[in-house]
Amino acid sequence: MCPLCGAPVTVRGFLGQGKPFCTQCGWNLQRAESSLSANSRAPQVVAAAFAIMALALLWMVSNAHGEKNLVAVFPILVIFALVGGITYWNYLSTKSAIAQAKASPSLQGVQAQPIPDAFLQRIQSLSRPRRVRFGFPGAPLAAVVFGFAMLCGAPFFATGRVGPPAGPRDATPFPYFVLIGPIGFVVLILGIVIVPALVKEKRNRPLFQDGEVAAARVLAQRTVRQGKTSYSQIDYEFRTSGGQTIRNSERDLSRKVFEDMLIPVFYDPVNPSRCAALCASYSKLPDAEG
Ligand SMILES: [Zn+2]
Repeated sequence: MCPLCGAPVTVRGFLGQGKPFCTQCGWNLQRAESSLSANSRAPQVVAAAFAIMALALLWMVSNAHGEKNLVAVFPILVIFALVGGITYWNYLSTKSAIAQAKASPSLQGVQAQPIPDAFLQRIQSLSRPRRVRFGFPGAPLAAVVFGFAMLCGAPFFATGRVGPPAGPRDATPFPYFVLIGPIGFVVLILGIVIVPALVKEKRNRPLFQDGEVAAARVLAQRTVRQGKTSYSQIDYEFRTSGGQTIRNSERDLSRKVFEDMLIPVFYDPVNPSRCAALCASYSKLPDAEG
């Protein structure tokens, strides 16, 4: 939903980089356009890469096995063509939608105050102390991945490090040290990702439970790339009940927050710079969930 006029906004975007925009009032149109042109090479590269892979596959198969196997690789070729094609088509359609919205003169220069959505209103009406639930969304997935890695990794490490058995096979004890690799990996993940996140959640919990709540306006959103992953960084601003204006920057874990939206931010009335946006937290307020 558009934060300025309330019209439905279609979620577009290619490779998770696109910003939503409103064709009714022109919200975020400018930013969506510049973010699209900043990333305009990505869909072309993806499309070209898939075309090259498809051609290489076709060439290899026809060279090695003759025409019979072409039937077998045909589904793979179709998938390649679809992925490359959809990426590029997505880019082109977003581009034309922006151009179309910009061409309609009635939409230009509309400035309005953002509309608070139902979720924010429910949060503002919660009685204190609020009920806070902690949910780590990646936890079940991480457990599955870890279990799978253990299953695959253990035999690999065992054959790799034990070498040829010196005595009779049955006498070789189970090499427990093969577990060092996976366990070390888990400890590393715990230390780098989970523990700092938990510390932050624990620190912010009193704010969500009993802090003042404000409707903060998002000033800027950008996708920050960090190696192979990326995260969404948001800057927001709110006014305290005492009339003070506070600005803060956090990572939006929901990835659904964009410019001009109003988001719930909780702060300490004694020291308002101690504040936390709900979308930057793994904590949930179950009584406000729709
Ligand atoms: Zn709008």
